[in-house]
Amino acid sequence: MDPEVMLNLMVELAGLEEELAAATATLVHHSRRDLHLRQLQDEYEADAAQAVAKGRDAAVSLRGTEVRIQDIEAALAHKRDQVVGISDRRQYKALQAEIKALEKELDRQETEAIELMDDVGRRDRQAGQAKGERDTQEDRGSEELARMAEETNRARAAEQEIISEIDRLIGMLPDKIARHAIRLRTQYPQAVVRVQEGACGGCFSRFPAQQGIDAEKGKALVRCPSCARFVVHKSWK
Ligand SMILES: [Zn+2]
Repeated sequence: MDPEVMLNLMVELAGLEEELAAATATLVHHSRRDLHLRQLQDEYEADAAQAVAKGRDAAVSLRGTEVRIQDIEAALAHKRDQVVGISDRRQYKALQAEIKALEKELDRQETEAIELMDDVGRRDRQAGQAKGERDTQEDRGSEELARMAEETNRARAAEQEIISEIDRLIGMLPDKIARHAIRLRTQYPQAVVRVQEGACGGCFSRFPAQQGIDAEKGKALVRCPSCARFVVHKSWK
């Protein structure tokens, strides 16, 4: 095989391997981001559910207090009725003391009811806010998830195409080079890397000066003395 043709094939192979690495990186990134967004949504969901539950608890407490107030009012009315017909002084005093205690308790329960009403209002506002935040996040998240799903499908399709193209190119290489390339691909994501300022773009080892120049100028197929990967120049396109 003409060395120049082979070198061009290797440059093309390097480009394909770079595209493949980019597609793979997209897939990895999207799957992580996807998980993160779903967890985030779960957190917002849990926050909203907790806020709603707290609002419900507050409303239950308020209802309990209202029932107690009604009971006390009924008991008070009954005692006040009793007081009217009593002539015994001791009984009268005892009833008055009971009425006083009930009035005090009523006062206490009414104060608590007012505080609970404030609490219910506050909890309702917090629940509304938490639900709003949850919905906002859901809109934002589902938009991003849909976009990522499309990109993931594209990257998966591209991955398959690139892999077939890499196989096709490797099939065109001389046997010995092809064998090396296949073995290197089992070891590294890329069998062919770019020269970077006189060093291997894969492991960053510096080359002997002449090798560096050969790789930069595309004069010869260079292999890194350190990691054994093929090293070619950057695309001139
Ligand atoms: Zn290297």
